[in-house]
Amino acid sequence: KKTAAIIGAGIAGIASAVRLANQGYDVHVFEANSYPGGKLSSFEVKGYRFDAGPSLFTMPHLVDELFRLSGKDPQAYFDYIRLDEVCRYFWDDGVRLTAQADRQAFAREMEEKLGEPAAHVLAYLQDSAVKYNVTEKLFLHRSLHKLGTYFNRDAFKGYANMHRLDAFTTMNRANERRFQQPRVVQLFNRYATYNGSDPYQTPATMNIIPHLEYNIGAFFPKKGMVDITESLVKLAEDLGVKFYFNTKVAKIETSENRVTGLTFEPTADRSGRRSSFLAPRSFDIVVSNMDVVNTFRKLLPDAKQPERILRQPKSSSALIFYWGVKKSFSELGLHNILFSNDYRAEFEHLFHQKTMYSDPTVYLNITSKHKPDDAPDGGENWFILVNAPNNEGQDWEALIAQSRKDVMKKVSKTLGVNIADHIECEEILDPRSIESKTSSSQGALYGNSSNNRFAAFLRHANFSREFKNLYFVGGSVHPGGGIPLAILSAKIATDLIDS
Ligand code: FAD
Repeated sequence: KKTAAIIGAGIAGIASAVRLANQGYDVHVFEANSYPGGKLSSFEVKGYRFDAGPSLFTMPHLVDELFRLSGKDPQAYFDYIRLDEVCRYFWDDGVRLTAQADRQAFAREMEEKLGEPAAHVLAYLQDSAVKYNVTEKLFLHRSLHKLGTYFNRDAFKGYANMHRLDAFTTMNRANERRFQQPRVVQLFNRYATYNGSDPYQTPATMNIIPHLEYNIGAFFPKKGMVDITESLVKLAEDLGVKFYFNTKVAKIETSENRVTGLTFEPTADRSGRRSSFLAPRSFDIVVSNMDVVNTFRKLLPDAKQPERILRQPKSSSALIFYWGVKKSFSELGLHNILFSNDYRAEFEHLFHQKTMYSDPTVYLNITSKHKPDDAPDGGENWFILVNAPNNEGQDWEALIAQSRKDVMKKVSKTLGVNIADHIECEEILDPRSIESKTSSSQGALYGNSSNNRFAAFLRHANFSREFKNLYFVGGSVHPGGGIPLAILSAKIATDLIDS
């Protein structure tokens, strides 16, 4: 049997493991942390369970597909529901809006609460679907770095519709053209943050993103987001994949135009004994799920560095407060957004001044709304995320202390309580800890930013040009960040690998 090594048990590493096991490989996954999932993991404090990173689950069929191709019934491993309600929006002056998944209901609510004709919203979502269909065929399922991608029927159909992508204007400008009401523009501009971009710079092509929530749907795994990781690890193990935790890869060994194996960082177990993985091990192929910048800089320092790609500006990062709140709030749902009063100023701070903004847009996720055992009786598990610049060595202690005050002020005003009185426990994740826990360059959530129209072509390919048997998967390479695209990266990479 041929052997495959995967560096990292992030979602793309696990998806690659499942696919390669199905292709007949003997698969070994090496993970630096003591747990799988990378950003998609979970922890518990004082009876409150928190999903550590992602909170919004879209395109669940990409997860189901991994069970099906392994000949298993997805529901035997992993179950989820489609959400009737997508998100609740709050503005400081008391205006509130609940976005239903039903498009007609959503459009009516936009007309009633924000004064935007429902027809504008419906036409916009239709256009988002068209954009998605053009992009999907061209960009999402294939390597952009193989000629065949550009010469096939789907691609030619795609070219005919290229103008629909609006690549020559910004998301904000396109949205301002379509809508009368600034709050509607703000609401749709927010979708730029789904891949860590700036709506005032990113091309209007990114207006494909609302299609995911309103046309395909927003979903919730019944056992929490972490179940995406856990059920897929279970599947991989059932297929014979071997996981090695607390095992950090130190170097990819190479010989001429091939990678030959891996060496590991010495780690000690609890009794201080050194790990048995010190000796290099050889493999037929290596797949890196480590951020591509750090794969080159740390694991392949002597290889040719694709500088142009590695130096692209990174997506935004995030500051997260996990609060155990011993009170429940009926006005809040699973996903809530408390909008900034000056969205443009917020992004100016994040992407140009590289700092936090004093009136941030606050995203509040409460899984105990759907999964009551995530919090003690009468309490709620609050995951509060504010957008943050990526890590350039800012004075994070000062920024976090100030942001904590700003967030508390905004939440307290919106809910008419002093929220500090109800917080029972707190954990914090910031760009530095995102970087150290998952090896993401500058703590970026989604690898390179998509702030220019060539961004799709400036992500690293899913294979190495220099080494014939080295592949790349995950949110930092093609086709992009976020759970669905990270899973697709595994499909594209493993499709290039012979069985
Ligand atoms: P990662 O999760 O980055 O994992 C990489 C793994 O590799 C880690 O476990 C790391 O320890 C391991 N590793 C790295 N180097 C080594 C080494 N040398 N040796 C061994 N192991 C190594 N996406 C969504 O779809 N919806 C959301 O709502 C959403 N919200 C997010 C919120 C936050 C706060 C964050 C941080 C991310 C969010 N994302 C969201 C993005 C999503 O989490 C990522 O795009 C996706 O999980 C990336 O997966 P990945 O496979 O690239 O690996």
